[in-house]
Amino acid sequence: MPQEVKKVRVGWEEWLALPKLGLPAIKAKVDTGARTSALHAFGIYEFTEQGKPMVSFGVHPIPERPDIEIYCTAPLVGKRDVTSSNGQTELRHIISTTLAIGGEEWETEISLTYRENMAYRMLLGRKALEGRAIVDPVQSCLCGELSPSLYDDLVAEEPMHRPLKILLLSREPHNYSSRRLVEEAERRGHSMDVINTKRCYMNITSAHPEVRYGGQVLASYDAVIPRIGASVTSYGTAVVRQFEAMNVFCLNSSDAIRRSRDKLYAHQLLAAQGIGMPVTGYASSPSDTMDLIKIVGGAPLVLKLLQGTQGKGVVLAETRKAAESVIDAFRGLDADILVQEFIKEAAGTDIRCFVIGNRVVAAMKRTGSEGDFRSNLHKGGNATKVRITREERATAVKAARVLGLSVAGVDMLRTESGPKVLEVNSSPGLEGIESVTGKNIAGHILDYIEKRAKIMAARRVRQDRSRRRRLEEASRQRASS
Ligand code: ADP
Ligand code: MG
Repeated sequence: MPQEVKKVRVGWEEWLALPKLGLPAIKAKVDTGARTSALHAFGIYEFTEQGKPMVSFGVHPIPERPDIEIYCTAPLVGKRDVTSSNGQTELRHIISTTLAIGGEEWETEISLTYRENMAYRMLLGRKALEGRAIVDPVQSCLCGELSPSLYDDLVAEEPMHRPLKILLLSREPHNYSSRRLVEEAERRGHSMDVINTKRCYMNITSAHPEVRYGGQVLASYDAVIPRIGASVTSYGTAVVRQFEAMNVFCLNSSDAIRRSRDKLYAHQLLAAQGIGMPVTGYASSPSDTMDLIKIVGGAPLVLKLLQGTQGKGVVLAETRKAAESVIDAFRGLDADILVQEFIKEAAGTDIRCFVIGNRVVAAMKRTGSEGDFRSNLHKGGNATKVRITREERATAVKAARVLGLSVAGVDMLRTESGPKVLEVNSSPGLEGIESVTGKNIAGHILDYIEKRAKIMAARRVRQDRSRRRRLEEASRQRASS
């Protein structure tokens, strides 16, 4: 006879634990209106372990305690479109894990989401409760309280005891950003190799993925910092992907770098998630040019080459005639272009938010040189410190997350109707932002790497150990047969 399952009585909010994720206490809102449970996660990072898809992510389990930051890993069940109670649909990672509540434990699926203003870090949906719990919607915390002090030991732990071996992929080993990252790594006792992305090569068909450089195998890095220039996106992301196949923590994933590099793709992803942007159009046929100009509200308008950076492929067309001739000229070059509403009120000024993980660690305001509507520093603009609004902060973090970037420079224009995101950079420079804000951005990046690389490294050790055990077992069997 099947054993009767003991049902847990739960109220409209409950404390529970997710032991396999290392979360001893989290307060969830019971939401039977939702099918799938949701966990508020950031810095979502996919990897594989012994051929199985996995995901790693950060959680701030206690809303009042932002200092408690726990990094978790879980098997990835898949990705699904989930519509939240506010009607927004989002492609979410779905994990499988154990839920512990009221003395009972069972397996359940949880979707990972990131909503800035979610009062509860977790929503407990119908599916997780089915057959396991009885909901009493007028009661609260029927299963008792769990204290945030359960996290004390976890937080007190040093992020990383041993020195890390870090690889910086860059074609410019001597530029400011590279120098600062090396300097900061060495100051913390880590070692950092700087290697030209283009000189990495690999056998992509090998069963044991590896990356080679100058006749040597590049092995056993704890983390890779990809700083992939726009001109080497395709090759550079292939190198990063190879490191991902080796389960090395890459600060930004190859997929995320690709997404941010393709301006059109990035715009579509950002727009789909409700991030404010200037009205933007795109067409391939010259016969559609006129309609496209109409869509963005006519001249003046901004035209952008899809793969441009540092302001090089960005043109302001003051009149419709000028717009048409620029569009046709670009077409002659067989170049893909975006047509965008010109945000005049920004007055040649944009805001760069430097995002690491789920925080804006620094922000600056950049103003173009006299008479230039482009504020890129490479074009002779100048920068000053700026206080950003809550909305700007939330938008920057969300934009980075939508593209899947852990480290990003989010550029936006300040308008009366809120921030309008222009682009999200996957290799933001450190020079401008450090000198303007006086902040140690390289240090922030290393803090983040120390936290993330630790979980990945621990898993690799476990994986190596289990592989060794299997090999030993196999050789024992051979010896005894
Ligand atoms: P790039 O990748 O070349 O830096 P951006 O899209 O960031 O291209 O544009 C460069 C600069 O031009 C921006 O920093 C901003 O100052 C200005 N700019 C771009 N688009 C607009 C727009 N739609 N309205 C007003 N200014 C813009
Ligand atoms: Mg820019």
